[in-house]
Amino acid sequence: MSLQKIGEFALISALSKSLSLSKNVIKGIGDDTAVLPLNKSKYLLLTTDMLVQDVHFTRKAAPEMIGHKALACNISDIAAMGGMPTHAVVSIGLSKHCSTEFVKKVYAGINSLARNFQVGIVGGDTVRARQFVINIALLGEVEKKNLVLRSGAGDGDWIWVTGPLGRAWKTDKHLSFTPRVAEARFLVSRFKPSAMIDVSDGLAGDLGHILEQSRVGAVLFDDQLPLNKGASLRDALYDGEDFELAFTMNPAKAKKLMEWQERKQRWFFYPIGRITNSKGLKLLGKDGREKKLEIKGFTHF
Ligand code: ADP
Ligand code: MG
Repeated sequence: MSLQKIGEFALISALSKSLSLSKNVIKGIGDDTAVLPLNKSKYLLLTTDMLVQDVHFTRKAAPEMIGHKALACNISDIAAMGGMPTHAVVSIGLSKHCSTEFVKKVYAGINSLARNFQVGIVGGDTVRARQFVINIALLGEVEKKNLVLRSGAGDGDWIWVTGPLGRAWKTDKHLSFTPRVAEARFLVSRFKPSAMIDVSDGLAGDLGHILEQSRVGAVLFDDQLPLNKGASLRDALYDGEDFELAFTMNPAKAKKLMEWQERKQRWFFYPIGRITNSKGLKLLGKDGREKKLEIKGFTHF
């Protein structure tokens, strides 16, 4: 069967059935990173992301920004688990016509972000390819008590996002975003979210992963979704590449977080809806009417 017919997630699900797994896996496929044992108090996190020319960036993108994005989207996945990034390996595929200047600039982008987040670049691989591709694998760590999975959302929890959504691909947000590690670390240490994911494939689809794994539904408030400049509600729900975090939190903690942000303005977290026991994703309009939303996100096939 063609990939177009079964789609990205059905392919991953089919592959996942036959994967070799060791016993020491806390969480394998199905979250933002894998979770592995590290020591008494911490878990090791492992994630990888690949960027391909004309899919994740165009030739017009500044090479520094391509490098930045390649590392930033990995760091974003570590943030979504509540963790801190530590070490990365970088693999690149290049055509022989590619200039060394270009590659050096890509690495300048990687290094500058890596320094900011104290990530060590400790290796990689270099091969020939028709188009430029870059893959980064990143390790991170999280205290056991601070780990947040996609599966912990419960009825009545508030749903939040860390920033505005939509049209990221049409601006340079998808290339230049800052991964939300500081925000995630603040949240896990002070207000422990019940579930968290980074919004890389669109809010409806990514929140859909939380709903599926937590076996719950959700209602979003249409007048509370923060929009990027020029973005419509539809763009906010279905565009990808925002790399904000979406998280859920029980009502008692959610009210405390509201109080916190009324006092201090370091960050603003947007409350956008509620988790419900009834399955599916709905949108509540200002007129009090609920509309069913399709749970779908960007997929590659
Ligand atoms: P994210 O958007 O957070 O990077 P993805 O949607 O790419 O996550 O992947 C969803 C899950 O599927 C992750 O747990 C990831 O590790 C896993 N996955 C994706 N592609 C493959 C693959 N080719 N083989 C095994 N696991 C995969
Ligand atoms: Mg992710």
